[in-house]
Amino acid sequence: MSEVPAYLREGYITPDELFRKIPKPSEERLRARPVAVPECPQEIPCAPCREICPTNAISMPTPNDLPVVDYEKCIGCSLCVQICPGLAFFMVHYVGDKARITMPHELLPLPERGEEVVLLNRIGEPVGKGKVLTVVPREKTKGDTPIIIVEVPIELAWDVRAIKVVRE
Ligand code: SF4
Ligand code: SF4
Repeated sequence: MSEVPAYLREGYITPDELFRKIPKPSEERLRARPVAVPECPQEIPCAPCREICPTNAISMPTPNDLPVVDYEKCIGCSLCVQICPGLAFFMVHYVGDKARITMPHELLPLPERGEEVVLLNRIGEPVGKGKVLTVVPREKTKGDTPIIIVEVPIELAWDVRAIKVVRE
């Protein structure tokens, strides 16, 4: 019997595990413009990301296959992040010594543009502080979840996948 992958046992995927499944965008590509990266390692019957992509950048021969993005075709429109029901798509853009992460944000309250927030890793641990650059409320997205763009230290680009709003 084959061994159950760690991400199934633990319930979250590490960057190392992710990039054994799909290619990692090059640093040059990450600096050029935002690029979408699916963190969707399970073969489940689901394909709205592929259907909504305006440039056919997401390849998935059948809905049971894993989504794989052609990073050169991705124009950074964020529609895949907006539509993914599993909250599994993110966009990453390196700018100087920061990274801008586009992510779904399901919890209330919504952060405000310019607000400093606590950065959380994939298991919800605080790993630092960052700044919210953009907030797109649910009614202005193609899905059911608001999306936000958060500026984080570049060394946390592949760790931060959620934020927490902390107000006095
Ligand atoms: S960001 Fe837009 S262009 Fe890029 S993969 Fe997602 S839907 Fe396609
Ligand atoms: S929409 Fe989301 S959950 Fe569905 S296949 Fe695409 S990345 Fe995976």
